[in-house]
Amino acid sequence: MHRKIRKLLVVGAHGDDETLGAGGTVARLADEGVVVSLCILTNDDGSRSVSGSGIVNRTAAIELAAKTLGIERVSVHEFGDNRLDTERHLDLNRVVEQEVREFEPDTVFATSMCDLSTDHALVSRAARVAGRPGRGPVKEVRTFEIRSATDVGEASGLPNAFRPNYWQLLDESHLDRKIDALRAYGKELEPWPSPRSERGVRALAEYRGSQVSAGLAEAFEIVRIVH
Ligand SMILES: [Zn+2]
Repeated sequence: MHRKIRKLLVVGAHGDDETLGAGGTVARLADEGVVVSLCILTNDDGSRSVSGSGIVNRTAAIELAAKTLGIERVSVHEFGDNRLDTERHLDLNRVVEQEVREFEPDTVFATSMCDLSTDHALVSRAARVAGRPGRGPVKEVRTFEIRSATDVGEASGLPNAFRPNYWQLLDESHLDRKIDALRAYGKELEPWPSPRSERGVRALAEYRGSQVSAGLAEAFEIVRIVH
């Protein structure tokens, strides 16, 4: 039986994780009346800043992307980009737990433990802790894939691989909004053949769609559903 999502919390390490990993699905669910909240743990360009001429205000970019996707509530925290491994796990867990307490989501989407990015893996762990069974409102936890983090993790011989077991079908309009939201991040939209190019984002949606004989999809790995 189909489980109806009512309140969705999306947890990412960096502004753009939510868009690259689940932007089309979030757009679709928001259209269907799901209330979506976004929690991003870091708020600077850190080691990814090359020229310093990129995003002036990352929070503004996150808010613009969120608005494009139909996300109603955004919280951006002040941990350092690519430095989450220097934080106490307790502090990361507390931030996500606080989000769960305040927003009371029935569903949590998060980055994958399988990503080469340590930030992504730590955020995934914190989201699992916040959404753990036996307490709180969370009935479903699932992880999303981010090309250049998830697939690079797989290609680098990490012991765990992202194994999708849920495909969310998308319309062209959902993919369009995902790409529009990605544009809010300016320099993240790179030329083909980058996975962060418009064509790269479309190629992944077409690949995941074709796996289930559909036009477009985003793939997820379900951690747990209580129904
Ligand atoms: Zn990221």
